Order: sequence, then C-alpha cells, then structure tokens
Amino acid sequence: MSEKEAITIPELPYSKEDLSPHISAKTIEFHYGKHHHAYVANLNKLIKGTDLAGLKIEDIVRRTVKDPKQVAIFNNAAQVWNHTFYWHSMKPGGGGTPTGAISEKINLDLGGYDAFIEKFKTAAITQFGSGWVWLVIKDGKLDILKTSNADTPIAHEVEPLLTVDVWEHAYYLDYQNRRGDYLDAFIKNLINWEFVNSIIA
Ligand code: FE
Repeated sequence: MSEKEAITIPELPYSKEDLSPHISAKTIEFHYGKHHHAYVANLNKLIKGTDLAGLKIEDIVRRTVKDPKQVAIFNNAAQVWNHTFYWHSMKPGGGGTPTGAISEKINLDLGGYDAFIEKFKTAAITQFGSGWVWLVIKDGKLDILKTSNADTPIAHEVEPLLTVDVWEHAYYLDYQNRRGDYLDAFIKNLINWEFVNSIIA
C-alpha cells in the first residue's frame, strides 16, 4: 500500500521582503518559516496512519472540530489553513479603499468603508489573547467576526473573505505590543482586495 500524501506548506504568494516595512522579512521568516511550518509538521505527525491521512485540509478541519479527543489535530489543521488564507489576504501595495464587488457589498451590508474599518479594527483590538479576525459572508451578508486561538469560520459553515492574524507572533517583532499599529498598517497598506473579489466573483 502506498503512503498517503502528506500535507505540504503552500508557497508564499510574494517574497519575504515584499510586505516590508509594514511586515518585515524577519517576521515572515519566523511566522511563515517557523510557525506555519511547525503546524504543517505537527499535523502530518498527528494524522499519519489515521483515516484523516490523505484528506484535504478543509476536510480534516471539519471532521475534527466537534471531537474533543481530536483537538490537537483540529488546532494544527485549522492553523495551517488560517495561515495560508492570511498570506493571501495581503499583497505588496495593497490596502486602502476597495473596488469592485466587495466595495458595493461593504456599502450595502456594513454601512460603508469607514464603518467597515471601525468594526474590523475594534474586533481585532478587543480579541482577548490569540486569535483571528475575519470578514465573512454569513447568511448571504457580510459580517465581521473574531475567533480564538486556531478556530476558523470554515469549521462553522461561514465563508471567509479576508483575515488578519492577531496572535502576537504576527506582529511582535515589528510592533511589540502595539497591535493597533499593526492593524493600521494591515488596513492601509496590505489588504488584498483582488483576492476578496476573486472569492465573491
Ligand atoms: Fe500566526
């Protein structure tokens, strides 16, 4: 019997220097090179020889979310998925006001770009401890939600459009404890609205 294919870490959609000065190459080296890699390595170790081996990452997340005995597998699988989504949520020269379909939807569902920023930033600042903040589609409408630790909208039938990682490892080397400054940089200079538009297209 052939060995089931291991989960591999997807390549970054840009090089590690490209988000600088908003996110430094050093942060990417640790965050992608160490943290994201470690989640992939841990996950492969945990699922080896189980009936989860060979499944898509999304399916591993959905199959383990409700089982307290599989919390370690869920945490690592969700973190693998969340980080890949986070890398795509940013691009060099991104941020600012969106165009296209997402722009109209933000006006319609969230009361405009300024209201979006206010809600997104407040959610990210008030997330206690480690977690993620998301722009999602829930029941057909845009919404902003936060999740703790590894938790992810894809485990709860909610479609994510954009995420920001608010674990300290995402910003500590560049901003120390100034989460708000990291969020301002993310919003003004990094959000990949084309990626968001490609999901809702
Ligand atoms: Fe992270």
